[in-house]
Amino acid sequence: MTLTPPQDRQSCPDADHARWMGEAIALARSMQGKVWPNPPVGCVIVREGEIVGRGCTQFGGRPHAERMALDQAGERARDAALYVTLEPCCHWGKTPPCADAIIRAGVRAVHASLQDPDPRVDGNGFRKLREAGIRVGIGLAENEASQIMAGFFHRIATGHPLLRVGARPQAAHVIPEGFDALMHSGWDCIEVVIRTPQGEASGEPLDSRSTKDELLDELGRRGLTSVYVPIDDPLSWKLRTAPSTTIASFSATHQRAGAPHTESAR
Ligand SMILES: [Zn+2]
Repeated sequence: MTLTPPQDRQSCPDADHARWMGEAIALARSMQGKVWPNPPVGCVIVREGEIVGRGCTQFGGRPHAERMALDQAGERARDAALYVTLEPCCHWGKTPPCADAIIRAGVRAVHASLQDPDPRVDGNGFRKLREAGIRVGIGLAENEASQIMAGFFHRIATGHPLLRVGARPQAAHVIPEGFDALMHSGWDCIEVVIRTPQGEASGEPLDSRSTKDELLDELGRRGLTSVYVPIDDPLSWKLRTAPSTTIASFSATHQRAGAPHTESAR
C-alpha cells in the first residue's frame, strides 16, 4: 500500500528513485570485503534532483555510510531524501546511531533497500524514523543489496561467515576482491589471511585439528562475513564433505522474496 501523497510521487518518478539507489548500491559494492565485521553499505542524499552527500561504510566498519553522507551534505540534508542500502542503525555501538543523526539533520524521506536483521536494529531504525515524521520506503534494489551483504546476513543468521570455494589466487596471500579473508592450508596449520582495517593482508594461524564447525565458529567469532577457500586446497574437501557445510555462491544466497518498494508515513 502506498501512502505517499500523489504530488510527491510525481516530483520524483520511480526511475529517479532507481537511479539514486543505484548510486548507493555502487558505493556499497566498492567496499565489499573491506568493512567487516560490519556490512558494506552505501548512501546518497538527494536534494532538488542533485546529490548533495555520498557515503559508504569505511574500512573496519566505521564510520557508517549515512554518517559520511550527512557530514558531506551538511545543511543541505534538510528536507532532502536519503537513499541507503540497509536500515539505518538505532543503537549505540562504537558510534552514535545513524537514525538519530538523520532525524537531527532534518531529512524528509528515507528510502532503504533492506531491513537490518541484526537483533539490535531489526526494524527499530525504521520505527524511530517514522516516529519522527520521516517518510520511509523499503525494498528499492533489494536483490542487489542482498547480494552485496550476503556474508553479513549469513553470519547474523548462522554465526558463520559465508564460504566460497574457487580458483586459487595467482599469488599467495592475495585475498580475492570482495572477500574479507582467504583461508588455506599451511605446513602445520590452517592459515586465515585477513584484510585488516588498514587494507593490508595479515596471516593468522588456526588449529589444523579443528573440525569444520570449530573453524567456522572461530571465523565467525572474529567477525568475518565472507571467506574464500582455494578449490585445490585439502581444506576445501574438509569443508565440503562435512555434512552441514554452508558453501554457497554469492549470487545465489540470501535472495529474499521480492517485496515491492513500499512507502509509509505517519
Ligand atoms: Zn549507522
